[in-house]
Amino acid sequence: KLSYKPGSTLTTCPYCGVGCGVRATLHSDGQVDIAGDESHASNYGRLCVKGSALGETVDLDGRLLYPKMRVEADATQPLQRVSWDAALDQVAHGFRSIIEQHGPDSVALYVSGQLLTEDYYIANKLMKGYIGSANIDTNSRLCMSSAVAGHKRAFGADLVPVCYEDLELADLVVLVGSNTAWCHPILFQRIARIKETRPQMKLVVIDPRRTATCELADLHLPLKAGSDVWLFNGLLSFLARNNAIDNNFVDTSTNGMAAALDVAESGCVDHGAVAKACKLDPHDLLTFYEWFAAHERTVTAFSQGVNQSSSGTDKVNSIINCHLLTGRIGRPGMGPFSITGQPNAMGGREVGGLANMLAAHMELENPQHRQTVQDFWQAPRMAERPGLKAVDLFHAIESGRVKAVWIIATNPVVSLPDADQVQRALAKCELVVVSDIIEKTDTNAFAHVLLPALSWGEKDGTVTSSERRISRQRAFLPTPGEARADWQILCQVAQRMGFKGFDFAAVHQVFDEHARLSAYRNGDAFGQRRTFNLSGLSGLDQKQFDAMAPVQWPLTTLASGDKRGTPRLFADRRFAHPDGKARFIATVPRGPQYATDSDYPLSLNTGRVRDQWHTMTRTGKSPKLADHVPESFVDMHPQDALLHGVREGMLARISSRWGEMVARVQHSGGIARDSIFVPIHWNGQSASDARVGALVNPAVDPVSGEPEFKHTPVRVEEF
Ligand code: SF4
Repeated sequence: KLSYKPGSTLTTCPYCGVGCGVRATLHSDGQVDIAGDESHASNYGRLCVKGSALGETVDLDGRLLYPKMRVEADATQPLQRVSWDAALDQVAHGFRSIIEQHGPDSVALYVSGQLLTEDYYIANKLMKGYIGSANIDTNSRLCMSSAVAGHKRAFGADLVPVCYEDLELADLVVLVGSNTAWCHPILFQRIARIKETRPQMKLVVIDPRRTATCELADLHLPLKAGSDVWLFNGLLSFLARNNAIDNNFVDTSTNGMAAALDVAESGCVDHGAVAKACKLDPHDLLTFYEWFAAHERTVTAFSQGVNQSSSGTDKVNSIINCHLLTGRIGRPGMGPFSITGQPNAMGGREVGGLANMLAAHMELENPQHRQTVQDFWQAPRMAERPGLKAVDLFHAIESGRVKAVWIIATNPVVSLPDADQVQRALAKCELVVVSDIIEKTDTNAFAHVLLPALSWGEKDGTVTSSERRISRQRAFLPTPGEARADWQILCQVAQRMGFKGFDFAAVHQVFDEHARLSAYRNGDAFGQRRTFNLSGLSGLDQKQFDAMAPVQWPLTTLASGDKRGTPRLFADRRFAHPDGKARFIATVPRGPQYATDSDYPLSLNTGRVRDQWHTMTRTGKSPKLADHVPESFVDMHPQDALLHGVREGMLARISSRWGEMVARVQHSGGIARDSIFVPIHWNGQSASDARVGALVNPAVDPVSGEPEFKHTPVRVEEF
């Protein structure tokens, strides 16, 4: 029986990248009341329905509370409870012996944007500095890696220029590939409030579907899936031809405009042709172009509809190009804005939690950066080349190249594209270790070792929101069973593998090391000038870490000695490329990798519903949240339904070249002809397997490795 210490704690919501502050009040019977934190600048006291229901999700039903293992790593044997010593020895011994036989690249970690920054930091340090492989990737690869790659190409580093306040200061807000009303509700509420007080502020939504976000829009452009680069190249060309170029900014602060314009003008000069390529009304398209040209204070916010594409990185750069051409960056109320999906996708990026990044925004492929990190860590064996990105990683597991994988806080058998391939890969893998808070998931069914992790409310550390704001997640619940923090579990395995450098006694020490690394040789003789610098937050003791207020990096030190965060970047018109200039990127439009055909004539789009999160292991516990959408569905146009022999309310089989699933037909009225929408949340634990990931094609963006979740050719038929 757990003993609860009543009281109120300020913490951060564990769901989307808005990063709302939460006040959690624990009662002596274990009940938790949830309210918004009025002092938190992300939400000023407001919470959406998911955040408000957090108190309903902290019970221990279904929790994994003790380490478990299969006898002799035989997947046919049941999992049995074991001691932590036995489980940790098994993981350390298994990884060590596979590395000894097959080398460091034969093992991998697959982690998650649900992890706290400190967990991510230790996982990255273990893999890249001690095991000596960069085979650590994350489910954040699935949601925002195209934005990371686009930022790096344009700005020289993964830097988000703007902040939430810019959305409120803008005269034109363009939301591209983002159902903000459902997926980032508090951000949407902030836009809605401003629109109420300033109705002349314009809102344009660019999305193939007519979503709840469109209800507030002055203009909705339901473009054809995958045609964003045509649209933004057309805009670039329009701006150039209509005297909207900021010549001073372009001349002094950018490179590459001529090449980008050449490509844009080669196919996207005539807005009628662009409208045809995007399947848009030419008049509406022209209206958007005219509004963009006319409003200096413009924010273009984009999300998964842009990133999750085999041309995602080009889409991101085609948006940034328009802001560079008009000089609309680094000033209040303007800039391109990547809204991240997960609560700590940004923190993961800061510690280098992607297979092609190094810690503290340093580059894995830069020898000086590798040396800097190696010296700081006193690491025995640094990874020297990028590791396998998520989709490639699971192919390497299936082919036997990777023989051991440790999956932490994510459920790839549901969430990855071509999810049946992930099942096949894990079934073949010599050693599958999973750290999770839940005992039964589609992925855990393949585990040889299951490690119980602390959940939200039990664990302590930091997360970073979409606007670079670092906030504390604080523990207010007792530790259930034998669960441990992910950073602790990773350190304990590292120590058993014989590695030094993992003897942290508390989480604030991990944060301190992360903060010190960000400042190490930053701006010294090595000539490194990294914007990501948390030196102002280093040296915090437990008490100071506990009291740490939310702050946006980078930090500046005031004359008084106080530290202040930075709401927006590039105010000085200096970027992170060595010459200080931003880059235009010439983006050649191309369609999705797999086209529809007579066998698979419909385009499958996937995404979230308002009241669920990821694969529902947490939100699925709340009856209030389940009320909104109780089961999976396939949303389609009534004429397509007729054509394919199904009706609203019927169960339908949806199949692609990669797999199939069953869902109930629905007509929301928001779907264009020849396309369907299926939510991502439902899994294989219910009566019928509702993993939409099984249908999704495995095409990825060649630069970012992000999968094409927004377009897969499918067919629908009666079940
Ligand atoms: Fe949580 Fe996002 Fe809702 Fe805020 S908007 S309460 S961070 S789910």
